[in-house]
Amino acid sequence: MTVITHLINGETPVAAGRSVPVYNPATGEAIRQVELASRATVQQAIDAAKAALPAWRELPPAKRAQVLFRFKQLLEENEEQIVTLISEEHGKTREDAAGELKRGIENVEYATAAPELLKGEFSRNAGPGIDSWSDFHAVGVVAGITPFNFPAMVPLWMYPLAIACGNTFILKPSERDPSSTLLIASLFQQAGLPKGVLNVVNGDKEAVDALLESPDVKAISFVGSTPVAEYIYSEGTKRGKRVQALGGAKNHAVVMPDADLDNAVNALMGAAYGSCGERCMAISVAVCIGDAVADALVDKLVPRIQALKIGAGTECGLDMGPLVTAAHRDKVSGYVDDGVNVGAELVVDGRALKISGHENGFFLGGCLFDRVTPEMRIYKEEIFGPVLCVVRAKSLEEAIALINAHEYGNGTCIFTRDGEAARQFGNEIEAGMVGVNVPLPVPVAFHSFGGWKRSLFGDLHAYGPDGVRFYTRRKTITQRWPKAQSQEAAQFAFPSQR
Ligand code: NAD
Repeated sequence: MTVITHLINGETPVAAGRSVPVYNPATGEAIRQVELASRATVQQAIDAAKAALPAWRELPPAKRAQVLFRFKQLLEENEEQIVTLISEEHGKTREDAAGELKRGIENVEYATAAPELLKGEFSRNAGPGIDSWSDFHAVGVVAGITPFNFPAMVPLWMYPLAIACGNTFILKPSERDPSSTLLIASLFQQAGLPKGVLNVVNGDKEAVDALLESPDVKAISFVGSTPVAEYIYSEGTKRGKRVQALGGAKNHAVVMPDADLDNAVNALMGAAYGSCGERCMAISVAVCIGDAVADALVDKLVPRIQALKIGAGTECGLDMGPLVTAAHRDKVSGYVDDGVNVGAELVVDGRALKISGHENGFFLGGCLFDRVTPEMRIYKEEIFGPVLCVVRAKSLEEAIALINAHEYGNGTCIFTRDGEAARQFGNEIEAGMVGVNVPLPVPVAFHSFGGWKRSLFGDLHAYGPDGVRFYTRRKTITQRWPKAQSQEAAQFAFPSQR
C-alpha cells in the first residue's frame, strides 16, 4: 500500500517511521497509509525553511508573485485530479470539492498582489527635513496546522500569502485526508518555488509539538477544533510566537416571519447538509421567530431532507457524501441519540441509512430536530455532522440574546425582507461573520475570515488584509540628511513639532 510522506526541501522522503491508514469513507476501506513525522523529520523541515529564508525574503515581491501566477495556472490545469483526491479521502461531493479548490485559488490570486500589498506608507517632511516610511517585513519561518474538512482551501488560506510576503513555510495538514494537500504543494514546487520555501510534514500531535517548541518558528496559523486551537494559542504565545488559532463553531440562522421561506429552506438545505455538515460555517441551528414560522419551516424541510441524494462523493450529481471516519460518524450519531434521550423532537432520523453497494461506508442520513432548547448538548456543542436543530424564539431580541450567549461566534445569518431587522441583527450580534439572506457568509479572499469568542484565539483574522498583517512585521524608518558642515546644537528636550 502506498505510504504518503512529506515534502521537505523540495524532496519527498521515503517512508521510515510510524504511519496510520487513510480511508475512503464511502467504502470504509483503508486506501493508503500516511507517515506521521517524528520530531527529527520536523526539524529537517524547519532547517530547510530556515536555509531558504534569506534569499526568498530578499527576492523582489514582483518576482515572488510570478511564481504564484504559475502556481494558480497549475492548480487550474490539475483541477480534476485534485478534486478526485479530495472527494476520495474526505468524502465530500466532487462539486463541493471543486468549490473549495476554487475558493482556495482566489486566495492565490490575492497573494499575487504582493507588490501592492507590501508597498508601505511614506511621509515626506514628517518633521523638518525628515522623511519617514513604514514597510512590511517577513516574520521568518512560519507554520500552518490545518483540519481535515478543507484539505485544499484552508492550507491555501495560509501559505500562498505567507510566502508572497517573503516568509518560508511549514504546513502540517490533517492526517485524515493528506493526498490533495501534498499534490497541491508539489504543484507550487513545480511552478518554480525554490526548495525549502514550502515544506509539508504529515503528522499528529508529535509534529505539532515540535513546531510549537522550536524557537525558529516565529508564527503559527491554526485552523481546527476549539480545544486544540486553545492549546496551540497558549503554548505558542507562551513561547513568544505570533499565533492565530481559528476554532469550532455553532452557527445560527434566524428565520424572521417576513422571510421568503422557500429561499430560506433552499439556503438552509445547502448550509446544514452540504459537505455532510462538516464545515465550520455550516448552519446547525435555525432560530425561528414564532411558532407559525417554525411549523412552516419544519414542514418544508422534512421532505427535502428525506429526498437528499446521498452516496459516494466521487460520483456526480449528489447532495451529500459520507462522514470522514467511522469514529466521527459514531460520534455524530451519538449526539442524535442524546438529543432523543433529553426530549428534543427528532423529526427526520438519518441514523439507519444504508447505501446499497457501500454498506461499509461511513454514511449518516440528514437529521432534523425540532423544539431544541439551550441546555441540551445538541444545542451547546459543535456536532459537525448533518444535523439541524430548530429552536423556537418569540422575538428577534430573544434570538439575538440566545446567539450572543453561545460560547462560539463564528458565522451567523438572518433571513428577512426587513432592512431594520437586518441592520439591528448586524449591529448587535456577536459573531465574526454575518450573512443577510446569505447562509454561508465566508468572506471573499480580499476580506478576512474569522470568528469571535471561542471561535478564534488571537487578534488577526485569516487571509486577506489581516493575513498580510499577520505574516509581516512593520518597520518604520525615520531619516534625515543634514547639510554638510551644518553644526547643530545638542537637543536635550524630547523632539516635537510644537
Ligand atoms: P482537529 O482540531 O482535530 O485537528 C486540526 C489539526 O490539529 C490537525 O492537523 C490535527 O492533526 C491537529 N491536532 C489534532 N489534535 C491535536 C492535539 N491534541 N495536539 C496538537 N495537534 C492536534 O480538527 P479537525 O477534526 O481536523 O477539523 C474539524 C474542526 O475544525 C471543527 O471543530 C471545525 O469547526 C474546525 N474548523 C474551523 C474553521 C475555522 O475557520 N474556524 C475552519 C475549518 C474547520
